[in-house]
Amino acid sequence: MALGEFELIARYFDRASPRGDVLLGVGDDAALLEVPAGQALVAATDTLVEGRHFLPGTDPDSVGHQALAVNLSDLAAMGATPAWSLLSLSLPAADEAWLEGFARGFHRLAGRYGVALVGGDTVRGPLVITVEVLGFVETALALRRRGARPGDLLFVSGWPGEAAAGLRQLLAPGSGSVDPALLRRLRYAEPRIELGRGLRGVATAAMDVSDGLLGDLARLCSASGVGAVVELDSLPLSPALKAAFALGDCERLVLQGGDDYELLFCVPAARSEAVAALATPSCPLTCIGRIETGAGVRGLRHGLEVPIAEGGYDHFRPAP
Ligand SMILES: [Mg+2]
Repeated sequence: MALGEFELIARYFDRASPRGDVLLGVGDDAALLEVPAGQALVAATDTLVEGRHFLPGTDPDSVGHQALAVNLSDLAAMGATPAWSLLSLSLPAADEAWLEGFARGFHRLAGRYGVALVGGDTVRGPLVITVEVLGFVETALALRRRGARPGDLLFVSGWPGEAAAGLRQLLAPGSGSVDPALLRRLRYAEPRIELGRGLRGVATAAMDVSDGLLGDLARLCSASGVGAVVELDSLPLSPALKAAFALGDCERLVLQGGDDYELLFCVPAARSEAVAALATPSCPLTCIGRIETGAGVRGLRHGLEVPIAEGGYDHFRPAP
């Protein structure tokens, strides 16, 4: 690369750490980090591939944001506090305009959550971004997928379906009309860190929704050894979604669209007031059903059972 690897890292990624628990950050062989006493280290990693996870030509500011946001969302699902990140970049060329935008989006979100970038790697190759985020949580309070019990209420945060709606509009042939609010949900996911922290000691099970609500719910159910009922009449259909799509499409987008990065969680009915206290105008919390004995996910409309397709996004499943 015209811009050397070390120069590239120094210019775009080596920032003074905002944290006292980074004993050694970028520049040594590895980072040295101090985990608070009594807490477990929480680690998550995710890779974004151009053409697979984002369209070629996507604003690099948004790619930088999303690369970190999808990992923060996994930490949110554990009830963890994010602290540190590592970044591995495979770049076709040292395109400085791209790097500047990417670094801006990445550092902006990192700054909001006090996340220090403590290491990484750059190589020449196809555009592939791997981020790892590390954080911590009180060991006994970590949220998991297993733990849901029959009778628990099932909640989802925010507005699932909006990101998939934005993508659908973007890909619609000949369509010039893309709702900027929907596109923003696709390009700038909002990790639900505060909600995840608030659910410690409240939720019996939680996960983030990245591959479609129904498919992810089926994973949570199978991890917990339970079944679930989803009340289709209770699904949160956002005003933007309803303005752009017919009711049936709205439901499909909410249930099967991907890239939501909302939290799906289960709470005993006796704790539902604690859930209400965690809702905010920008993060409503909607009860969409309940956990039951058995296995699998059933759909109810006006109290009557209706077939609902599972099947979220799976990278390794052949396209239909
Ligand atoms: Mg996840």
